[in-house]
Amino acid sequence: MKKIAVLGSTGSIGQSTLSICESHPDRFHPIAFAAGSNLDIVFEQCQRWRPQIVSVATEPLADKLSTRLKQNGLTGIEVVHGTAGTVRVATLPAVDFVVAAIVGVAGLEATYAAVLSGKTVGLANKECLVAAGDLILAAAREHNVDLLPIDSEHNAIHQCLRAGTAAEVKQIWLTASGGPFRNTPLADFDRITPAQALKHPTWVMGQRITIDSATMLNKGLEIIEACRLFNLPPSRVKVTVHPQSTIHSLVEYIDGSILAQISVTDMRLPILYALSWPDRVASDLTFDLAHLSQLDFQTPNFARFPCLRLAYEAAAASQNHCIALNAADEIAVAAFLNGQLSFNGIPRTIERVLALTTSGSPASIPEVLAADLLAREQASELVANSQVFSS
Ligand code: NAD
Ligand code: MG
Repeated sequence: MKKIAVLGSTGSIGQSTLSICESHPDRFHPIAFAAGSNLDIVFEQCQRWRPQIVSVATEPLADKLSTRLKQNGLTGIEVVHGTAGTVRVATLPAVDFVVAAIVGVAGLEATYAAVLSGKTVGLANKECLVAAGDLILAAAREHNVDLLPIDSEHNAIHQCLRAGTAAEVKQIWLTASGGPFRNTPLADFDRITPAQALKHPTWVMGQRITIDSATMLNKGLEIIEACRLFNLPPSRVKVTVHPQSTIHSLVEYIDGSILAQISVTDMRLPILYALSWPDRVASDLTFDLAHLSQLDFQTPNFARFPCLRLAYEAAAASQNHCIALNAADEIAVAAFLNGQLSFNGIPRTIERVLALTTSGSPASIPEVLAADLLAREQASELVANSQVFSS
């Protein structure tokens, strides 16, 4: 029985993880949760799973949750809060496996702490690898920790890489759905509303990653994530637009063979793979090949999706640029969702922040967080001057 900590338990990935635990009660048992501020869902999760420890975003929220648990006779659940709380959850001695699914850099310290304490980590939080991939991978090597990708493309690559050695790999191909605006006339981009951008054609996900999919910055972050996880330069990580999202990614070997991973568009499958690795476990997440009528692939259009170009540029520039890419996007997406910034304002904000960034490579997590904060401040200032970016 693997004992699981779920960081981001109330989110899309967190809830899918608990659904896997529900369908495989003999294998996976969640004993620790970390979440933000959705107390109703956290409370229900505590009722269902009786974890040893649960962390929420702030002290007032922790007080509220404690009171509610007591009123309902749920004793023996320790309630903690903030970054220190998520770190406690990620390093709980009884935990074997940590699912890192907090959105954004908020999940970085806990993910790093999980690696330092020797836990196997299932990584959904790509922002951690973008901001501090070198540090996380070095710590994983030092502590002999397995990092298992949950992001569907990287999970697919992990599976396809089992067929050959690193020296046999020519390049990898990340598939991208192209999002809801793959065929929208460019002239209409400035009028795209949050409601339109939040409708992803193939996946149901949290808000930030859904907007990032619409701008294709998500694919940009995934390019950097792949460089870190699989130790490849950006020139060997390619993107192909595949609207059906049926092939989750591909590995091209030096002899010309290309291996693809095909499955349902359901994140429970990569989560199950990561939790079960190195074994495979039977599931009902089957894919009916008879329904596969068409597989399309297109070269991504960098003029339509400048975020993709910006990500390749950041990856080639320096680690500070990767941190800035992610931080500026986090601010810009929040501003877009609040109606402060147009859709085109997202890449424009990121491009301006990247231009302000000096090359460098932080040597510690506090240095990463300082670079992240600087880029956030720069992005917020640009957004405040919103005439530049509104349509
Ligand atoms: P989500 O918005 O649905 O959930 C985010 C979770 O993080 C919630 O539980 C929230 O409470 C928690 N959280 C936010 N701020 C926090 C804080 N300060 N402290 C503690 N917890 C906090 O997001 P999601 O779609 O589940 O995505 C989670 C991560 O997984 C992201 O990094 C995303 O890029 C990645 N990912 C998601 C999918 C997907 O299908 N949803 C696919 C691939 C990768
Ligand atoms: Mg993905």
